[in-house]
Amino acid sequence: MNDPVLPGATLGILGSGQLGRMLAQSARRMGYRVHTFSPTADSPTGQIADRETVAAYEDLDAIERFARDVDAVTFEFENISSAAANAAARHGPVRPRGEVLHLCQNRWREKHALTAAGLPTAPYAAVESLEALLAAIARLGTPCILKTAGFGYDGKGQARINTADDAVAAWASIGGGPAILEGVVDFAAELSVVAARGATGERVDFGVIENRHVDHILDVSIADAPLDEAQTTRAREIAATVMEAFDVVGVLCVELFVDRRGELLVNELAPRPHNSGHLTIEACASSQFDQQLRAVCGLPLGDTTRRQPTAMANLLGDLWADGEPDWTAALADPAVNLHLYGKAEPRAGRKMGHLTASAASRDEAVRRVRTARAALVRASNP
Ligand code: AMP
Repeated sequence: MNDPVLPGATLGILGSGQLGRMLAQSARRMGYRVHTFSPTADSPTGQIADRETVAAYEDLDAIERFARDVDAVTFEFENISSAAANAAARHGPVRPRGEVLHLCQNRWREKHALTAAGLPTAPYAAVESLEALLAAIARLGTPCILKTAGFGYDGKGQARINTADDAVAAWASIGGGPAILEGVVDFAAELSVVAARGATGERVDFGVIENRHVDHILDVSIADAPLDEAQTTRAREIAATVMEAFDVVGVLCVELFVDRRGELLVNELAPRPHNSGHLTIEACASSQFDQQLRAVCGLPLGDTTRRQPTAMANLLGDLWADGEPDWTAALADPAVNLHLYGKAEPRAGRKMGHLTASAASRDEAVRRVRTARAALVRASNP
């Protein structure tokens, strides 16, 4: 299908969180109608979409009815089953392909595909039993990290193993199912490259973004990671190789480590816009969500040039612990932009929104976005 899906047509989004919300904002700005498929009503995407279908992802009849009513389907939630992606594909284009989704849903499949494409990762072993885990620990050495093969995110379903004595507890803590054991990378920094590939194979990326995590959850992202030119080129080449090897049409994020020797290793892939790319909304002429829309609809891709140094800070539900955050205080800095995702319940660790700040330098952007976030918590409730 190479005929573009033009403005005025309807985009279907499987999933209904903040990634779908920001895609829907791009789509509506460009004159598309948006339907979202959501397990719950009044979702972050549903609040922006023209229509919200509330049904379970396992309800394949509902997926088919949804897909029949739209002109192209994409997803913002990556744990959609292959069966659901295939059901949607019976009625029109699904981008990226269901196979890309399937690959990225499972750490075994993903790691093997990366290795087959010649890309560097941490040493790893597939593990299906406690005996296999003990053998893998002996082979990879410690420290290492045990991760469930499927359905993990933000460090969930992971256990660190410092000595072989930790194996039994680690195996139990991840529920004892199919898993992957990885050597711990002594990384100097965590990075990401958000890339897009259009229906005709053209590619763009947003350069290399530096990511700082707290408790395994992304805390701050900063455009233009301070790498040397060869490392920057290599990171972008890795993303390009993934896009080509997996024939991705849409947006995909490659999460990387740079180790103490300066080597780049792929951590994982997300076949969709990524939290680290949110800063592209303000930093770039066209954002990761604009690129997703354009790629999925078969349109030419947009300009990813970064206009100003920009940093992003996530707003987790913890910030609401003592009441509503002080929005006025955070916005006192005119360089700061606020994004809230329309989630009613601010649970601890839940991504409720983010701030960005653009400034004359990276350091200045980071300082201003952190200062704004700190100002959200009222002085009387430190
Ligand atoms: P993941 O869900 O695989 O992205 O892991 C979440 C976070 O755990 C990463 O962003 C890293 O901070 C850390 N992590 C995961 N795998 C490794 C590894 N092999 N070595 C060191 N840190 C890791």
